[in-house]
Amino acid sequence: MHKAQALVIHCIDFRFQEMIDENLKKRGLFGKFDRISWAGASKDLQNVLNNASISLKLHEPDEIIIYEHEDCGAYEEDNSEETHRANAQNLINKLKEIKPVLKFTTQIATFDGVKEL
Ligand SMILES: [Zn+2]
Repeated sequence: MHKAQALVIHCIDFRFQEMIDENLKKRGLFGKFDRISWAGASKDLQNVLNNASISLKLHEPDEIIIYEHEDCGAYEEDNSEETHRANAQNLINKLKEIKPVLKFTTQIATFDGVKEL
C-alpha cells in the first residue's frame, strides 16, 4: 500500500495554484499528498466525494486539507466566506462518514495569501 500523508482538495482556478503549492511546501507535504482539483472545490460535493473515496481507500491519508478560494467563478453571486465555510464543513462531514481521518484543515486562498477559513 502506498500511503499518502494528506489528501488536498482545491478548485481548478490557476490564479491560486502557486500560493496553494507554496502553502503545501511550508507544511512539508509537497510530493506526499493526493490532489483533487475540481471546479468549485467542496461546492460540487458528489464529484469530489467520489474522487476522495478512492484516495481514502488506496492511500489512507492522515490529513485532509481543503482550500477554498475567493472570487470563485463556480459560486456565481454567493461567494461569501460563510458559504465556502458551510460547503467545506459539509464535505468534511461526508468524508468522516466514509472513513475517519486524523485531521481536517480548511483554508481559503485570497489575493492576499492563504488564510484560515
Ligand atoms: Zn474556483
